[in-house]
Amino acid sequence: MIGVLGLQGAVAEHRRALADLGVATAVVRRPEELTGLRGLVIPGGESTTMSKLAIDLGLMEPIRAAIAGGLPALGTCAGLIMLADTVLDGRADQEQFGGLDIVTRRNAFGRQVDSFEAPVEVHGLSRPFPGVFIRAPWVESTGPGVETLATISRQGVDRAVALRSGAVLATAFHPELTGDRRIHELFLQTCAGQGSDC
Ligand code: GLN
Repeated sequence: MIGVLGLQGAVAEHRRALADLGVATAVVRRPEELTGLRGLVIPGGESTTMSKLAIDLGLMEPIRAAIAGGLPALGTCAGLIMLADTVLDGRADQEQFGGLDIVTRRNAFGRQVDSFEAPVEVHGLSRPFPGVFIRAPWVESTGPGVETLATISRQGVDRAVALRSGAVLATAFHPELTGDRRIHELFLQTCAGQGSDC
């Protein structure tokens, strides 16, 4: 059973993607719903809202602890922000679950290209992935142990937009808003790679 954090955002889309791969999901809105999960998806949406709701519902600490303890996690767009250890251009009171040793910048691509689609070359995938970027963050630096799986070039600089560290996988784009299930498959492989703990 894979949990999908159900506070806000593209919850149904992630559940549909995992259902397409034959995986049962449960919506997580309360701390006790984390029990027994083999992975947790944190959807795209709005990280400031997600942070506020997670604090209000008592989910911030339990999810932090679960991810720190090795629970596999997939975060997309706002979900990437929620997994980042450091967030730039966040709200002052915004908090994250953390677990991914990166510095990310919210809404980084700027107004002119608020939303765009671009093919993304992802390590381990044989064909480019259709990247749907909606007020997306980018990643400005990564710590040791973080593998950059994909970058896109902006103003002559390569920005990381897909990353993996241990059992944590994150994308700045929205695989749940496409019919392409390969990022979700990668996540399920990450879970399987964790052996009996996962
Ligand atoms: N800009 C949003 C945030 O800061 C993320 C956008 C998204 O998930 N599409 O949370």
